[in-house]
Amino acid sequence: MNVRSILEQKGSDVATVGVDDTVAQASAQLRDRGVGALVVTPDGARIVGIVSERDIVRAVASHGASALGRSVGSVMTSEVVTCGTADTVEHLMTLMTERRIRHVPVADADGRLGGIVSIGDVVNARVRELHLENQALTEYIHQGR
Ligand code: AMP
Repeated sequence: MNVRSILEQKGSDVATVGVDDTVAQASAQLRDRGVGALVVTPDGARIVGIVSERDIVRAVASHGASALGRSVGSVMTSEVVTCGTADTVEHLMTLMTERRIRHVPVADADGRLGGIVSIGDVVNARVRELHLENQALTEYIHQGR
């Protein structure tokens, strides 16, 4: 199973935020969209960063309530790890484990944003994959009887 098949299931919609938006605005967006991270982009296509719940917790721990007035640009991660639609679920599991990230934006060959895969999507895809494998093996065993 690969990223393309995950996006076919969940769609390519991505929750985004602007670099000059405040941490308070990003927090509201995380709540309203029910997601754990936002891709930072000026135009919905160019990826300039990613901001997750963890970045906001860090900012509040460092700056207290004034963190809410800071810009997204000051708390985001700007070296974004992305994947392509042909990447496999196994590759994403390794990437997320090694880099300790739970969100990977999908970029095309020009680096344009085309979706996002979360650790929840990866777990769902893996469970579906195991279910199908299990079904195929069970059928195979019954055919042999
Ligand atoms: P997360 O596990 O996704 O909540 O994010 C944990 C930390 O990794 C935060 O500092 C995020 O900004 C950062 N992060 C999350 N996803 C990515 C990514 N795809 N590329 C780079 N950093 C990321």
